[in-house]
Amino acid sequence: MQRQNFHTHTRFSDGHDTPREMIEAALALGFHSLGFSEHSPSPLASIYAVSAGVVQHCLTELRSLAAAYRGEIAIWAGIELDSETPMEYGDWDFIIASVHEMVRHAQWGSIDGGEAGQRDLVERLFHGSWTDFGKAYYERLTEHVMRNKADIVGHFDLPTKYGIFPEDDPICRDAAVEAIREIVKHCPLFELNTGAIARGLRDVPYPSAFLLSEIKAAGGSVIVNSDCHYKEKLTCWFDEAEDFLRGLGFVRHDNERLNEKITGVTIWRAE
Ligand SMILES: [Zn+2]
Ligand SMILES: [Zn+2]
Repeated sequence: MQRQNFHTHTRFSDGHDTPREMIEAALALGFHSLGFSEHSPSPLASIYAVSAGVVQHCLTELRSLAAAYRGEIAIWAGIELDSETPMEYGDWDFIIASVHEMVRHAQWGSIDGGEAGQRDLVERLFHGSWTDFGKAYYERLTEHVMRNKADIVGHFDLPTKYGIFPEDDPICRDAAVEAIREIVKHCPLFELNTGAIARGLRDVPYPSAFLLSEIKAAGGSVIVNSDCHYKEKLTCWFDEAEDFLRGLGFVRHDNERLNEKITGVTIWRAE
């Protein structure tokens, strides 16, 4: 099993534990790398994101923990950058680009704020059209990845979280595949996100097997993350993920480079 996780949340955003508690849990698991990725400050996401007044303090604390644990474990200060966040929040080691909300016609709605919230979003912003929502979501994610020079594409098919999004609809599939083909030109690394399994909402990770095959065909690669909000879930579904990716024809590579700063990372590629 890999001994890394590059998608984790602490009490700085909506996680349950402190950064130090997460690091200690990671050390007990034999991790060599741990990346933190709090939700970026967003005018729409004040409930679960780091507040704008605290984000610099968060970065400073992660830097000091990285220094304190040097030689034991590599600590990386990343951010899960929401599409609605203006990119002006510090010098992060890596960026996960995620879309959690949609904005349209001067209204907004939450994609992953509960099943009722997602239905309400589609009703108000897209006049009940799930295919219009799907197209707009994938366009927004593509634009976000390109604009903000992401290192990792976060939970690519998040709208499928509650099982009500028509992921098999040909229009939604086409929109997703078009997004993959454009995104790989700018950020080839997609995460296999097991967070919804950890929360008991799904029994398969994001993205779906169909989309992972498209990512592979387009030359993309995959990193396994658990979108961890509880230190007990740092390795949730990691063993299963390896079998899952091998079954789709991906090959594990250790000691890969994530970006200019981060090396020694496990990444899965087509060969
Ligand atoms: Zn997210
Ligand atoms: Zn997250």
